[in-house]
Amino acid sequence: MQKHSDRLRNQGDRIGFVPTMGFLHEGHLSLMRQARVDNHALVVSIFVNPTQFGPDEDYDSYPTDLEKDASLCRETGCDILFTPGTDEMYPENNVTKVSVAGLTETLCGASRPGHFDGVTTVVSKLFNIVSPHMAYFGLKDYQQYRVISKMVQDLNMNIQIVGLPTIREEDGLAMSSRNAYLYDDERSGALTLSRSLDSAREMVREGIRDPRAIEDKVAGIIKSEPTTRIDYVSVVNADDLGPLSTIEDRALLAMAVFVGDARLIDNAVLEINTD
Ligand code: AMP
Repeated sequence: MQKHSDRLRNQGDRIGFVPTMGFLHEGHLSLMRQARVDNHALVVSIFVNPTQFGPDEDYDSYPTDLEKDASLCRETGCDILFTPGTDEMYPENNVTKVSVAGLTETLCGASRPGHFDGVTTVVSKLFNIVSPHMAYFGLKDYQQYRVISKMVQDLNMNIQIVGLPTIREEDGLAMSSRNAYLYDDERSGALTLSRSLDSAREMVREGIRDPRAIEDKVAGIIKSEPTTRIDYVSVVNADDLGPLSTIEDRALLAMAVFVGDARLIDNAVLEINTD
């Protein structure tokens, strides 16, 4: 991979990079399409990274379909599909980690200890291997996008990080490889996430500025479905992801909810329209 990137860079090509864990859907493809437009070459990686999963999480059952992923990559104009093995990424004697403080202490960082260290370490390694000019991330994983942007800034990585909007199913459910875990009767539980985001936006439009009132309303909507179990629902500062006592101009509403076996996340940036 490094030789391919050297060759591309030596001929003056800009490299766009989309790191994924595979089982590709329209969310991934939207990142790939934008990367395709912005760059001469598109590299996609598929690597289910063990170090970002906790011991009781779904690493062993994470869905895969490499053949289908490869044909989607081909159709979307991907030049290189990079699928390293776990032993190659983590040889036995490796002892180095990349860790971002602060931003990783709230939301998913609080409920998944070590998760973001796994993410920042593997993304750093992938960046060093692929040497992209630009790398694309989905705002569905808003905290991840913020953490990676901070890492790139703090470590002087010469890579432009692009965050792109969440792609949803027609009924509003944010696309996710983990939606494959949902049974038919869990679908209505899963839809409470996007429905509750709409309801929060409506509250802000109506002039409500109290983060706790919004969290309560959102939690109520999610709990109205018996298949759901809330991990967290939080309205936080959209920049540092820290606590917020009142919404002044914008805030992040982020949530993680178990629906059956699936842990789903979703979020919305709540903006106060001052026009
Ligand atoms: P994953 O394979 O879940 O690790 O995701 C790989 C990349 O795709 C990450 O940058 C995600 O934020 C992004 N992504 C996943 N789902 C969506 C979605 N529904 N819309 C936009 N981007 C997404």
